[in-house]
Amino acid sequence: MVSDLRLQLIAIDGPVAVGKSSVGQLLAGKLGFSFFDTGLMYRAFTWKVLKLGISPENEKELSQLANVTRFDFIPRQEGYLFPSIDGEDVSSRLLCPEIEEKVSLVSKVAGVRQVMVSEQRRLAQRGKVIMAGRDIGTVVLPWAELKIFLVASVKERANRRYKELLERGEEVDYNVILAGLKKRDENDRHRSISPLKPAADALIIDTEKLSLEQVVDKIYALVVNR
Ligand code: C5P
Repeated sequence: MVSDLRLQLIAIDGPVAVGKSSVGQLLAGKLGFSFFDTGLMYRAFTWKVLKLGISPENEKELSQLANVTRFDFIPRQEGYLFPSIDGEDVSSRLLCPEIEEKVSLVSKVAGVRQVMVSEQRRLAQRGKVIMAGRDIGTVVLPWAELKIFLVASVKERANRRYKELLERGEEVDYNVILAGLKKRDENDRHRSISPLKPAADALIIDTEKLSLEQVVDKIYALVVNR
């Protein structure tokens, strides 16, 4: 663990299934930082929207709901933080296909994003945080000292997600995963508010042919050699 770092905030952005969470979690362990994956917050909120039977297209209701929702950050293994929603830990339910299908509709609503960004900035005030998402370097923490943008082809990312789900014992179809991933990429890249894109000062790392450990080592070296 590196204890004398002045650096406080690391932003990791990138498309679906590029490995932001695995990289961030490992890096946090090595640096003694907390890690938070903001995608889980959008997923948790989508879970609440679906549970209440609200249409993900109803922007007004979604914004109102976001404003009366309480988000907290629960520490798990090695500084890995998970969101709780209205005091409830819903982390085990966030990867289901229903949420996967609707989350990018919910996350394009301005009023929802406003609440999320302000909660994520509240968390960042604690310092020594690695935050992963789509708009961390551009919108949430433009002042982060290190901004990383991970990329890999859509086929490689679908492959990684496919293997991950197989290892978890889930029944999966590669083509369904590929199609879902393309659709979510498309929505995230082309929405009018906070679209997925690298910050001007982000470092782009192509992970296509790199192992998880190689990506982590690259970023670790950037941190300690600053
Ligand atoms: O990262 P993950 O795939 O779990 O994110 C789920 C969805 O949440 C993304 O497809 C995107 O629509 C949304 N999201 C976002 N901004 C973030 C993180 C996630 O819009 N910072």
